[in-house]
Amino acid sequence: MHIMDGKLVAKETREQIKNEVNAFYEKYKSIPGLAVVQVGDNQASSVYVRNKHTACREVGMVSYEVHLPENISERDLLHEIELLNNDIAVDGILVQLPLPKHINESNIINAINPSKDVDAFHPINVGKIMVGNYDMLPCTPAGVMTLLDYYNIDPAGQRALIIGRSNIVGKPMMHLMLERNATVVCAHSKTRKDDLLRLFAVSDIVISATGVRNIIDEDDAWQYFKDYRHDFYNTFKKRERVIIDVGINRDENGKLCGDFSETFKEAYANFYTPVPGGVGPMTITSLLRNTLKAAEILRKQR
Ligand code: NAD
Repeated sequence: MHIMDGKLVAKETREQIKNEVNAFYEKYKSIPGLAVVQVGDNQASSVYVRNKHTACREVGMVSYEVHLPENISERDLLHEIELLNNDIAVDGILVQLPLPKHINESNIINAINPSKDVDAFHPINVGKIMVGNYDMLPCTPAGVMTLLDYYNIDPAGQRALIIGRSNIVGKPMMHLMLERNATVVCAHSKTRKDDLLRLFAVSDIVISATGVRNIIDEDDAWQYFKDYRHDFYNTFKKRERVIIDVGINRDENGKLCGDFSETFKEAYANFYTPVPGGVGPMTITSLLRNTLKAAEILRKQR
């Protein structure tokens, strides 16, 4: 059984990015810059935003803080985005979500210059991912792919089960796994539980992003399979599986945990990501990579 150490992979990848930022400076005599837009003072968002600024500094990039009041109008926010689109010091624009309810998130995302869209949420970037000809990938799915590659896990020909179908994680994850020649199935909130368990049983790589604690556990398995022939239950238990746990939840003691318990992953996977310390550290690392990529694209356009 192998734990996929996101902290280690993130640290090594950020060292590489730091070197690439130095090389970028030598070539263009400028430093890639990321603008992080935060609207309001949501506590969780403030932590995420702070971490992004710190990560930028650590690899030698500039980060700009654009902190706007909770009651800003959609029109004024669109104006702020326009200013950032036109600012040549800004290579990447990230709008911290969620936005206050009176602002339509899609309108804001659609207003970002696609070349500066380091979250890769703009419909143009989403479409590029669908056709497999992209510059930037959404940060979390990109982080998952980096982890798989680091541990030499080749998705080709593997049965991959993606649990969750959000635009941020589940859907792009499906495309990336398909692009890497996995056989992909996507489960979601309307998937029947017995189906979810059967799909899990026959999957080689399971990537879960639901925000539901214990999305599958040992009791479920026993409940559904106890009346079946034993070999089906044994399939469920097979240990060659890879489990990538994207979920971030809190247990009854307020401790961070994933969609699966650590003991479950230990028992049902050969390779798995822990929570915390698995996919989480990879997400900001992908953001740094995207910012550098955007900076290169923009320099070539000038
Ligand atoms: P979301 O709420 O947009 O999507 C959740 C998805 O889970 C939905 O598509 C839904 O259909 C599916 N789902 C819900 N209940 C289910 C069930 N019982 N069975 C099967 N599918 C079910 O969330 P999101 O933005 O995709 O994030 C998902 C989780 O991943 C959250 O816990 C979030 O905090 C975490 N996350 C972590 C990172 C990271 O860097 N580690 C990044 C993004 C999201």
